[in-house]
Amino acid sequence: MRIQHHLPFVVCVGLLVLAAGCRTQTGATAPVGQTWRGVHLAVESDRRLAVLQGQLPKLAADGVNVLVIQVDYHFDFQSHPELRDNPFITRAGARAFSRAARKLGIRIIPELDCLGHQSWAKTTFPLLAKYPQFDETRGQFPGNKRIYCRSWCPSNPGVNKVVFALIDELTDAFQADAFHVGMDEVFIIADPHCPRCRGRDPAKLFAKAVNDLHRHIVGKRGLAMLMWGDRLLDANTMGCGRWEASANGTARAADLIPKDIVLCDWHYREQTNYPSVPFLLAKGFRVWPSGFQPLAATEAFSRFSLEQRRRNKRVLGYLCTTWNKATPASAGDWPPITEILPNWKPDRVPRRF
Ligand SMILES: [Zn+2]
Repeated sequence: MRIQHHLPFVVCVGLLVLAAGCRTQTGATAPVGQTWRGVHLAVESDRRLAVLQGQLPKLAADGVNVLVIQVDYHFDFQSHPELRDNPFITRAGARAFSRAARKLGIRIIPELDCLGHQSWAKTTFPLLAKYPQFDETRGQFPGNKRIYCRSWCPSNPGVNKVVFALIDELTDAFQADAFHVGMDEVFIIADPHCPRCRGRDPAKLFAKAVNDLHRHIVGKRGLAMLMWGDRLLDANTMGCGRWEASANGTARAADLIPKDIVLCDWHYREQTNYPSVPFLLAKGFRVWPSGFQPLAATEAFSRFSLEQRRRNKRVLGYLCTTWNKATPASAGDWPPITEILPNWKPDRVPRRF
Protein backbone atom coordinates (compact mmCIF):
# COMPACT_ATOMS: atom_id res chain seq x y z
CA MET A 1 0.00 0.00 0.00
CA ARG A 2 2.71 2.43 0.86
CA ILE A 3 4.69 1.66 -2.22
CA GLN A 4 2.50 0.62 -5.05
CA HIS A 5 -1.01 1.86 -4.62
CA HIS A 6 -2.58 4.84 -6.31
CA LEU A 7 -1.33 3.72 -9.67
CA PRO A 8 -2.42 6.11 -12.39
CA PHE A 9 -4.33 3.73 -14.60
CA VAL A 10 -7.18 5.94 -15.57
CA VAL A 11 -8.08 9.14 -17.29
CA CYS A 12 -10.74 11.39 -15.88
CA VAL A 13 -12.95 13.19 -18.34
CA GLY A 14 -16.24 14.86 -17.75
CA LEU A 15 -18.09 18.06 -17.39
CA LEU A 16 -16.54 20.81 -15.38
CA VAL A 17 -18.94 21.70 -12.62
CA LEU A 18 -18.57 25.25 -11.50
CA ALA A 19 -17.37 25.61 -7.99
CA ALA A 20 -19.64 26.68 -5.21
CA GLY A 21 -19.07 29.96 -3.44
CA CYS A 22 -16.42 30.63 -0.87
CA ARG A 23 -18.22 29.32 2.18
CA THR A 24 -15.69 29.40 4.95
CA GLN A 25 -15.41 26.77 7.61
CA THR A 26 -13.89 26.93 10.99
CA GLY A 27 -12.71 24.33 13.43
CA ALA A 28 -9.37 22.89 14.34
CA THR A 29 -7.80 23.76 11.04
CA ALA A 30 -5.38 26.22 9.59
CA PRO A 31 -6.77 29.76 9.42
CA VAL A 32 -9.18 30.34 6.57
CA GLY A 33 -7.26 31.50 3.53
CA GLN A 34 -3.93 29.98 4.53
CA THR A 35 -2.61 27.74 1.81
CA TRP A 36 -1.89 24.13 2.72
CA ARG A 37 1.42 23.19 1.10
CA GLY A 38 1.71 19.55 2.03
CA VAL A 39 3.79 16.43 1.68
CA HIS A 40 2.48 12.94 2.38
CA LEU A 41 5.03 10.37 3.56
CA ALA A 42 4.90 6.93 5.10
CA VAL A 43 7.15 6.84 8.17
CA GLU A 44 7.47 3.68 10.21
CA SER A 45 10.12 4.21 12.88
CA ASP A 46 11.75 6.75 15.17
CA ARG A 47 14.91 6.43 13.11
CA ARG A 48 13.09 7.41 9.93
CA LEU A 49 11.37 10.26 11.75
CA ALA A 50 14.77 11.51 12.85
CA VAL A 51 15.99 11.34 9.26
CA LEU A 52 12.95 13.29 8.12
CA GLN A 53 13.57 15.80 10.88
CA GLY A 54 16.87 16.54 9.22
CA GLN A 55 14.99 17.40 6.03
CA LEU A 56 12.55 19.77 7.70
CA PRO A 57 14.54 22.98 7.14
CA LYS A 58 14.78 22.20 3.40
CA LEU A 59 11.10 21.38 3.21
CA ALA A 60 10.17 24.53 5.09
CA ALA A 61 12.29 26.57 2.70
CA ASP A 62 10.27 25.13 -0.19
CA GLY A 63 7.13 26.29 1.53
CA VAL A 64 5.96 23.04 3.13
CA ASN A 65 3.66 23.82 6.04
CA VAL A 66 1.84 20.48 6.44
CA LEU A 67 3.23 16.96 6.67
CA VAL A 68 0.83 14.02 6.54
CA ILE A 69 2.62 11.15 8.22
CA GLN A 70 1.14 7.75 7.38
CA VAL A 71 1.86 5.65 10.43
CA ASP A 72 -0.78 2.93 10.28
CA TYR A 73 0.11 0.28 12.86
CA HIS A 74 3.79 1.23 13.12
CA PHE A 75 3.38 2.80 16.54
CA ASP A 76 4.10 1.73 20.08
CA PHE A 77 0.42 1.63 21.05
CA GLN A 78 -0.13 1.45 24.80
CA SER A 79 -3.87 0.90 24.56
CA HIS A 80 -3.40 -2.05 22.21
CA PRO A 81 0.22 -3.25 22.31
CA GLU A 82 -0.87 -6.32 20.36
CA LEU A 83 -1.45 -4.10 17.31
CA ARG A 84 2.08 -2.67 17.18
CA ASP A 85 3.72 -3.39 13.86
CA ASN A 86 7.49 -3.49 13.38
CA PRO A 87 9.37 -1.23 13.14
CA PHE A 88 7.54 1.40 15.11
CA ILE A 89 7.40 5.01 16.23
CA THR A 90 7.33 5.79 19.95
CA ARG A 91 5.35 8.52 21.63
CA ALA A 92 8.60 10.25 22.61
CA GLY A 93 9.84 10.08 19.03
CA ALA A 94 6.62 11.52 17.69
CA ARG A 95 6.62 14.31 20.28
CA ALA A 96 10.21 15.31 19.48
CA PHE A 97 9.48 15.33 15.77
CA SER A 98 6.32 17.37 16.03
CA ARG A 99 8.07 19.89 18.27
CA ALA A 100 10.81 20.36 15.68
CA ALA A 101 8.23 20.68 12.91
CA ARG A 102 6.16 23.24 14.78
CA LYS A 103 9.23 25.42 15.30
CA LEU A 104 9.49 25.59 11.51
CA GLY A 105 5.80 26.30 11.05
CA ILE A 106 5.01 22.79 9.80
CA ARG A 107 1.79 21.14 10.94
CA ILE A 108 1.82 17.36 11.45
CA ILE A 109 -1.23 15.28 10.53
CA PRO A 110 -0.94 11.56 11.36
CA GLU A 111 -2.74 8.96 9.26
CA LEU A 112 -4.11 5.52 9.94
CA ASP A 113 -5.70 3.79 6.97
CA CYS A 114 -9.24 3.01 8.01
CA LEU A 115 -11.76 0.55 6.63
CA GLY A 116 -9.76 -0.57 3.57
CA HIS A 117 -6.07 -1.25 3.08
CA GLN A 118 -5.97 -3.71 5.96
CA SER A 119 -3.57 -5.97 4.09
CA TRP A 120 -0.94 -5.76 1.40
CA ALA A 121 -0.04 -8.74 -0.76
CA LYS A 122 0.23 -11.76 1.55
CA THR A 123 0.49 -9.70 4.71
CA THR A 124 -2.63 -9.02 6.73
CA PHE A 125 -2.05 -6.03 8.98
CA PRO A 126 -2.29 -6.31 12.75
CA LEU A 127 -5.91 -5.25 13.26
CA LEU A 128 -7.40 -8.08 11.23
CA ALA A 129 -4.59 -10.50 12.09
CA LYS A 130 -5.28 -10.07 15.81
CA TYR A 131 -9.03 -9.50 15.54
CA PRO A 132 -10.20 -11.69 12.64
CA GLN A 133 -13.77 -11.13 13.77
CA PHE A 134 -13.46 -7.57 12.40
CA ASP A 135 -12.65 -8.86 8.90
CA GLU A 136 -15.34 -8.17 6.28
CA THR A 137 -14.34 -11.42 4.58
CA ARG A 138 -13.35 -13.51 7.57
CA GLY A 139 -11.86 -16.83 6.59
CA GLN A 140 -12.07 -16.04 2.91
CA PHE A 141 -9.24 -15.49 0.46
CA PRO A 142 -6.44 -17.41 2.24
CA GLY A 143 -3.07 -15.82 1.58
CA ASN A 144 -5.01 -12.75 0.40
CA LYS A 145 -5.12 -14.24 -3.06
CA ARG A 146 -7.54 -12.72 -5.59
CA ILE A 147 -8.10 -9.57 -3.54
CA TYR A 148 -6.42 -6.17 -3.49
CA CYS A 149 -6.63 -5.41 0.22
CA ARG A 150 -8.74 -6.59 3.10
CA SER A 151 -11.35 -4.33 4.70
CA TRP A 152 -12.72 -4.24 8.18
CA CYS A 153 -16.44 -4.61 8.67
CA PRO A 154 -18.07 -1.20 9.23
CA SER A 155 -21.03 -2.91 10.88
CA ASN A 156 -19.02 -4.80 13.47
CA PRO A 157 -19.98 -3.35 16.86
CA GLY A 158 -16.48 -3.78 18.30
CA VAL A 159 -14.16 -2.31 15.71
CA ASN A 160 -14.60 1.38 16.44
CA LYS A 161 -13.65 1.12 20.11
CA VAL A 162 -10.30 -0.37 19.15
CA VAL A 163 -9.63 2.00 16.25
CA PHE A 164 -10.62 5.13 18.17
CA ALA A 165 -8.06 4.27 20.85
CA LEU A 166 -5.35 4.05 18.20
CA ILE A 167 -6.39 7.37 16.67
CA ASP A 168 -6.34 9.02 20.09
CA GLU A 169 -2.83 7.78 20.77
CA LEU A 170 -1.48 8.93 17.42
CA THR A 171 -3.13 12.31 17.79
CA ASP A 172 -1.71 12.77 21.26
CA ALA A 173 1.78 11.61 20.29
CA PHE A 174 2.03 14.03 17.36
CA GLN A 175 0.16 16.79 19.22
CA ALA A 176 -2.03 16.97 16.14
CA ASP A 177 -5.10 19.10 15.51
CA ALA A 178 -6.18 17.01 12.51
CA PHE A 179 -6.26 13.34 11.56
CA HIS A 180 -6.20 11.57 8.18
CA VAL A 181 -8.32 8.40 8.08
CA GLY A 182 -7.24 7.17 4.64
CA MET A 183 -10.28 5.27 3.30
CA ASP A 184 -9.06 5.07 -0.28
CA GLU A 185 -9.51 2.17 -2.66
CA VAL A 186 -12.03 0.32 -0.52
CA PHE A 187 -12.99 -2.47 -2.87
CA ILE A 188 -14.36 -4.92 -0.31
CA ILE A 189 -17.55 -3.52 1.22
CA ALA A 190 -21.08 -4.95 1.61
CA ASP A 191 -19.45 -8.26 0.89
CA PRO A 192 -21.63 -11.35 0.46
CA HIS A 193 -19.39 -13.16 2.95
CA CYS A 194 -20.26 -10.73 5.76
CA PRO A 195 -23.42 -11.72 7.65
CA ARG A 196 -23.93 -8.10 8.79
CA CYS A 197 -23.31 -6.29 5.52
CA ARG A 198 -24.40 -8.60 2.74
CA GLY A 199 -27.14 -7.09 0.61
CA ARG A 200 -26.80 -3.65 2.13
CA ASP A 201 -26.14 -0.39 0.29
CA PRO A 202 -22.35 0.14 -0.08
CA ALA A 203 -22.82 3.93 -0.01
CA LYS A 204 -24.64 3.78 3.31
CA LEU A 205 -22.07 1.40 4.78
CA PHE A 206 -19.21 3.59 3.60
CA ALA A 207 -20.96 6.67 4.98
CA LYS A 208 -21.50 4.88 8.30
CA ALA A 209 -17.78 4.26 8.60
CA VAL A 210 -17.04 7.90 7.75
CA ASN A 211 -19.69 9.22 10.12
CA ASP A 212 -18.55 7.01 12.99
CA LEU A 213 -15.00 8.30 12.59
CA HIS A 214 -16.22 11.88 12.21
CA ARG A 215 -18.26 11.68 15.42
CA HIS A 216 -15.13 10.66 17.30
CA ILE A 217 -12.45 12.75 15.57
CA VAL A 218 -14.39 15.97 14.97
CA GLY A 219 -17.33 15.66 17.35
CA LYS A 220 -15.59 14.26 20.42
CA ARG A 221 -11.97 15.28 19.96
CA GLY A 222 -12.45 18.60 18.16
CA LEU A 223 -9.97 17.77 15.41
CA ALA A 224 -10.22 18.28 11.68
CA MET A 225 -10.70 15.11 9.66
CA LEU A 226 -9.11 14.33 6.32
CA MET A 227 -9.66 11.41 3.98
CA TRP A 228 -8.88 10.41 0.40
CA GLY A 229 -11.69 11.32 -1.98
CA ASP A 230 -11.79 8.48 -4.50
CA ARG A 231 -14.71 6.51 -2.99
CA LEU A 232 -16.92 9.62 -3.26
CA LEU A 233 -16.43 9.95 -7.01
CA ASP A 234 -18.60 7.92 -9.37
CA ALA A 235 -16.40 6.25 -11.94
CA ASN A 236 -19.22 6.27 -14.47
CA THR A 237 -20.20 9.93 -14.33
CA MET A 238 -16.69 11.23 -13.66
CA GLY A 239 -15.19 9.11 -16.41
CA CYS A 240 -12.62 7.62 -14.03
CA GLY A 241 -11.50 4.06 -13.51
CA ARG A 242 -12.18 2.03 -10.40
CA TRP A 243 -9.02 3.07 -8.56
CA GLU A 244 -9.29 6.81 -8.89
CA ALA A 245 -13.06 6.72 -8.44
CA SER A 246 -15.68 4.28 -7.22
CA ALA A 247 -17.19 1.57 -9.35
CA ASN A 248 -18.55 -0.32 -6.36
CA GLY A 249 -21.49 1.80 -5.31
CA THR A 250 -19.94 4.00 -2.63
CA ALA A 251 -20.05 7.36 -4.42
CA ARG A 252 -23.47 8.38 -3.13
CA ALA A 253 -21.90 8.54 0.31
CA ALA A 254 -20.77 12.05 -0.70
CA ASP A 255 -24.31 13.19 0.15
CA LEU A 256 -24.41 11.29 3.45
CA ILE A 257 -21.35 12.63 5.29
CA PRO A 258 -20.39 15.96 6.91
CA LYS A 259 -19.07 18.64 4.60
CA ASP A 260 -16.35 19.81 6.97
CA ILE A 261 -14.21 16.78 6.06
CA VAL A 262 -11.15 17.70 4.00
CA LEU A 263 -11.08 15.53 0.90
CA CYS A 264 -7.65 14.69 -0.48
CA ASP A 265 -8.57 14.33 -4.14
CA TRP A 266 -5.76 12.31 -5.73
CA HIS A 267 -5.00 12.16 -9.43
CA TYR A 268 -1.68 11.23 -10.94
CA ARG A 269 -2.12 11.61 -14.66
CA GLU A 270 -1.37 14.68 -16.70
CA GLN A 271 -4.71 16.16 -17.75
CA THR A 272 -6.13 19.52 -18.79
CA ASN A 273 -9.15 19.29 -16.51
CA TYR A 274 -9.61 17.55 -13.20
CA PRO A 275 -13.40 17.63 -12.90
CA SER A 276 -13.50 16.01 -9.49
CA VAL A 277 -12.14 19.17 -7.88
CA PRO A 278 -15.07 21.44 -8.83
CA PHE A 279 -17.44 18.49 -8.34
CA LEU A 280 -16.41 18.02 -4.71
CA LEU A 281 -16.37 21.77 -4.13
CA ALA A 282 -19.94 21.97 -5.41
CA LYS A 283 -20.87 19.29 -2.88
CA GLY A 284 -19.63 21.66 -0.19
CA PHE A 285 -16.38 19.98 0.81
CA ARG A 286 -12.95 21.46 1.29
CA VAL A 287 -10.67 19.87 -1.27
CA TRP A 288 -6.94 19.29 -1.03
CA PRO A 289 -5.75 18.27 -4.51
CA SER A 290 -3.14 15.53 -4.20
CA GLY A 291 -0.70 14.67 -6.96
CA PHE A 292 2.31 12.44 -7.39
CA GLN A 293 4.72 12.15 -10.30
CA PRO A 294 5.99 12.57 -13.01
CA LEU A 295 6.73 16.24 -12.75
CA ALA A 296 4.66 17.19 -15.81
CA ALA A 297 1.58 15.59 -14.25
CA THR A 298 2.29 17.21 -10.91
CA GLU A 299 2.59 20.58 -12.57
CA ALA A 300 -0.64 20.11 -14.57
CA PHE A 301 -2.71 19.21 -11.52
CA SER A 302 -1.09 21.96 -9.46
CA ARG A 303 -1.74 24.57 -12.14
CA PHE A 304 -5.38 23.52 -12.49
CA SER A 305 -5.79 23.58 -8.71
CA LEU A 306 -4.24 27.02 -8.40
CA GLU A 307 -6.79 28.32 -10.88
CA GLN A 308 -9.56 26.69 -8.86
CA ARG A 309 -8.27 28.24 -5.65
CA ARG A 310 -8.44 31.70 -7.16
CA ARG A 311 -12.20 31.12 -7.49
CA ASN A 312 -12.78 29.19 -4.29
CA LYS A 313 -10.68 29.18 -1.15
CA ARG A 314 -12.09 25.78 -0.21
CA VAL A 315 -9.36 24.49 -2.48
CA LEU A 316 -6.94 24.42 0.40
CA GLY A 317 -3.65 24.09 -1.41
CA TYR A 318 -1.69 21.19 -2.81
CA LEU A 319 -0.48 17.87 -1.38
CA CYS A 320 2.53 16.05 -2.80
CA THR A 321 2.10 12.33 -2.26
CA THR A 322 5.36 10.41 -2.45
CA TRP A 323 4.63 6.63 -2.26
CA ASN A 324 8.26 5.84 -1.52
CA LYS A 325 9.50 7.63 -4.63
CA ALA A 326 10.61 10.20 -2.11
CA THR A 327 11.72 8.94 1.29
CA PRO A 328 12.34 10.69 4.59
CA ALA A 329 15.96 10.97 3.45
CA SER A 330 15.26 12.38 0.00
CA ALA A 331 12.05 14.36 0.37
CA GLY A 332 13.87 17.68 0.57
CA ASP A 333 15.30 17.13 -2.92
CA TRP A 334 12.35 15.48 -4.70
CA PRO A 335 11.37 17.57 -7.74
CA PRO A 336 7.57 17.41 -7.34
CA ILE A 337 8.12 19.02 -3.94
CA THR A 338 10.95 21.39 -4.72
CA GLU A 339 9.57 22.52 -8.10
CA ILE A 340 5.84 22.61 -7.42
CA LEU A 341 5.13 23.57 -3.83
CA PRO A 342 6.94 26.92 -4.06
CA ASN A 343 4.30 27.88 -6.64
CA TRP A 344 1.78 27.86 -3.82
CA LYS A 345 3.63 30.42 -1.74
CA PRO A 346 1.80 33.74 -1.48
CA ASP A 347 2.51 36.14 -4.31
CA ARG A 348 4.45 33.55 -6.25
CA VAL A 349 3.96 33.55 -10.01
CA PRO A 350 3.72 29.83 -10.89
CA ARG A 351 6.54 28.40 -12.93
CA ARG A 352 5.62 26.67 -16.12
CA PHE A 353 7.48 23.77 -17.62
ZN1 LIG B 1 -19.62 -6.32 7.34
